Amino acid sequence: MQDQEQFRREVRQWLQANCPESQRQPITAAEQYWGGRRGSFPSEDARLWYERMRDRGWIAPEWPIEYGGGGLSDQQARIIKDEMKRINARAPLYSIGLWMLGPALLEYGNEAQKQQHVRAIINAETRWAQGYSEPGAGSDLASLQCRAEDMGDHFLVNGSKIWTTSADKCDWIFCLVRTDPKVKKQEGISFLLIDMDTPGVSTSPIELISGESEFCQTFFDNVKVPRENLVGELNKGWSVAKALLVHERKLMAELGSDSPRKIVPPNEAARKYLEFRDGRIVDARLRLDLVEYNMQMHAIALTHFRGFEEKSAGVRSAAPLVMKYLGTEAEKTKSELLLAIMGSRGLGWEGDEFTPEERDTLRLWAMSKAMTIAGGSSEIQLNVIAKNVLGLPQAGGT
Ligand SMILES: Cc1cc2nc3c(=O)[nH]c(=O)nc-3n(C[C@H](O)[C@H](O)[C@H](O)COP(=O)(O)OP(=O)(O)OC[C@H]3O[C@@H](n4cnc5c(N)ncnc54)[C@H](O)[C@@H]3O)c2cc1C
Repeated sequence: MQDQEQFRREVRQWLQANCPESQRQPITAAEQYWGGRRGSFPSEDARLWYERMRDRGWIAPEWPIEYGGGGLSDQQARIIKDEMKRINARAPLYSIGLWMLGPALLEYGNEAQKQQHVRAIINAETRWAQGYSEPGAGSDLASLQCRAEDMGDHFLVNGSKIWTTSADKCDWIFCLVRTDPKVKKQEGISFLLIDMDTPGVSTSPIELISGESEFCQTFFDNVKVPRENLVGELNKGWSVAKALLVHERKLMAELGSDSPRKIVPPNEAARKYLEFRDGRIVDARLRLDLVEYNMQMHAIALTHFRGFEEKSAGVRSAAPLVMKYLGTEAEKTKSELLLAIMGSRGLGWEGDEFTPEERDTLRLWAMSKAMTIAGGSSEIQLNVIAKNVLGLPQAGGT
């Protein structure tokens, strides 16, 4: 405990000395650094901040030192996160590789794969896309059809993936592919790493209402993928896929509490936009909604903490299973509440008559709905909770 307090003091001092002032401000989408071959830093301070964190080993503090991580404990990594949050420090790197693929590779990848990809993720040399969903396989992911034929030293991949976020800007894509169509659907799936520069890979962007999500459909036309890019065993990719989804859902659950965006928090928005009398919000409905929201956020924060403590104590915890649902639904509630508080000021999509914060609030409102779908929809999360936490019988099951 004393060690932890000592560590916290050191982290605090280091951040104070090394996090540039400009990197302690709420972030806009345009200011996020995503790395990759084609990525560029949005500012000189963003570069400095990323490089300092990388050199300190804090891009991935809990990953092993031999792959570029910090070799720290979960508790220490949590302390770094808490201290960054305390000063509003921006995430130095936004990366699907960092959030999802890296942890899965550390668990399932072989030594060569870890050497090639894990450090490259930390060094922001590669930007990754996720190739899970297909036009006929979203919630029912295991029915995916993108085919990879085993040709001995390589696989021949044919098919397509949909909703692949920013695939047109990515260097690599990790894909679930069907390697055996004759067995039970979960048992014929493999996990492949595919270089986007391989001949036969192409992307077609899909535009969305939020103005922010850059979805693509990604096509594979006779794409040759070297056998060494298979993660885990042939036809055992479903286990890798599920492990990765746990990390994705953890990320989604924390999204709202990560790098602050340029939106006004609900309590502040209430002071700015609502009428007060005798220290109370006049609109009784909004007053009640705001109180409920604050209580819910407090309960979620406590559940996060509980999950973390249970994990540290080696206790099997239900918290990670419920957090994706709770966290993303809370973000949706927050966005709805903000728009209700802001009234007509919350309707600004573009134009100078609205402040950047007001415009961002409306865009995040649209995005918050997407977050309850991405990484497994809320309905699917409830099904998972019903089955795995509450032990309820499955619909149509015995
Ligand atoms: C912002 C965003 C980013 C994404 N990024 C990626 C990405 O990078 N890579 C990738 O592979 N995919 C990505 N996705 C896709 C995402 O994983 C799917 O959208 C999601 O799994 C749902 O699948 P679907 O869209 O096919 O909907 P469907 O599965 O068709 O579901 C439609 C509706 O039916 C409901 N439903 C379906 N089955 C059940 C059931 N059994 N019980 C109750 N309700 C059910 C769902 O909840 C949903 O409301 C992204 C999605 C979003 C929104």
